[in-house]
Amino acid sequence: MAKFLFVTDLDNTLVGDDKALLELNDRLEQSRQEYGTKIVYATGRSPILYQELKDEKNLLEPDALILCVGTEIYLDGSHTPDSEWSEKLSSGWNRDIVVSTTTAFPELVSQPDSEQRPFKVSFFLQEEDSQKVLPQLKSELQKSGLDVKLIYSSGIDLDIVPHGSDKGQAVQFLRQKWKFVAEVTVVCGDSGNDIALFSVGSERGIIVGNARPELLQWHNEHPADYHYLATNFCAGGILEGLKHFGFLE
Ligand SMILES: [Mg+2]
Repeated sequence: MAKFLFVTDLDNTLVGDDKALLELNDRLEQSRQEYGTKIVYATGRSPILYQELKDEKNLLEPDALILCVGTEIYLDGSHTPDSEWSEKLSSGWNRDIVVSTTTAFPELVSQPDSEQRPFKVSFFLQEEDSQKVLPQLKSELQKSGLDVKLIYSSGIDLDIVPHGSDKGQAVQFLRQKWKFVAEVTVVCGDSGNDIALFSVGSERGIIVGNARPELLQWHNEHPADYHYLATNFCAGGILEGLKHFGFLE
């Protein structure tokens, strides 16, 4: 056994099976103390909603947090987003133009204020409207000269973020900072906004058994021997995958 960089989505990936989560927490904390394994949560949640879940589920204190689908990185328990990362996101981004462009689309319903962030504008968008709205919105944003990305997840959440920002790019940033190669980095997810974790490089990937159709479809279309589709759900699937890759016994 050796140290590794452990990166996981929270909702329906790390969290969802309380019993398996307890066991996984034990194993991860042990690996952190014995070998220096780093634990990172990568979630679409904002700081407020993250803290709620952390308290409710008694999550381990992470070594870094990737919040708001990769637009904010917090290191070592800091409450201030990492400025180096924020600077990287600034080019090609203008929040006011994003907001004014979206007003032409009545299908977009604004998410609560807590989810509106400096580098993220978030809406609810019904699945049946998404096929029509997403391409039109993308083209309107391009016309404004912005370099942004639309992330649609779980058949309801739409996040508009800077082009260079997603969970996967944020993991690359941490990997380089902490000097972990892709072979000893493992990423875990269950839904559309986790595809960035799996597609950005050759990190070891665990897709939990309860993964949503959009991620399963992506996995089928992009098979790779360094991605593992677990049978078990949530933390149980993560345990299964960590053993498969030899990170845990
Ligand atoms: Mg999830």
